[in-house]
Amino acid sequence: MQSSSRRWAPRKYGERAELVADLRFSWELSGSGWATCRVADGSAERKDVVSYCTDALADLLDGVADLYAPGTVHRFSFDLEPAEIRWVLRGLGRDVDIEIYRFPDMSASFDAPDDHGALVWSSRQDRGALSHAVVEAAQSVLRLHGEEGYRAKWVLHPFPLAALQDLRRLHLRYDGCDIPHDMPLP
Ligand SMILES: [Zn+2]
Repeated sequence: MQSSSRRWAPRKYGERAELVADLRFSWELSGSGWATCRVADGSAERKDVVSYCTDALADLLDGVADLYAPGTVHRFSFDLEPAEIRWVLRGLGRDVDIEIYRFPDMSASFDAPDDHGALVWSSRQDRGALSHAVVEAAQSVLRLHGEEGYRAKWVLHPFPLAALQDLRRLHLRYDGCDIPHDMPLP
């Protein structure tokens, strides 16, 4: 877990004991066309190696950004060739329930209900904590590889700079996050 050591301290932890502390998230380009996605809370970690067949990092950033819009359930999927990893985000005011489902064959499961897959990780988090961790992880990718280096490794899709900027803007505007966000974006 190198890219998003967490410094977020939700303001109301004592009042919302159902939240799970210690959210950590990282996204690492692990080879040509593959990224390692790790998410963990105080009790469990999930790790998936995601393929470049989809614009996965953009889908993640957009999916988290959707939590700031009306509507309560947002889904996006990663292609593991052939498995599908589906993230389901349920907004509950300032909290979010995160569930990750695994389906063995993405070509067969794309329209399948969530409960046809295996629930492999879940956690209830503060929305700001999730956004902060995802923004930091994406910024780390950009800092490490640059846009050119990212495109060279992810081949089919450019670095999702606009999606990162959007989520960062929403996070800074609506989450009251007072942790420094020290990397100026291009
Ligand atoms: Zn923040």
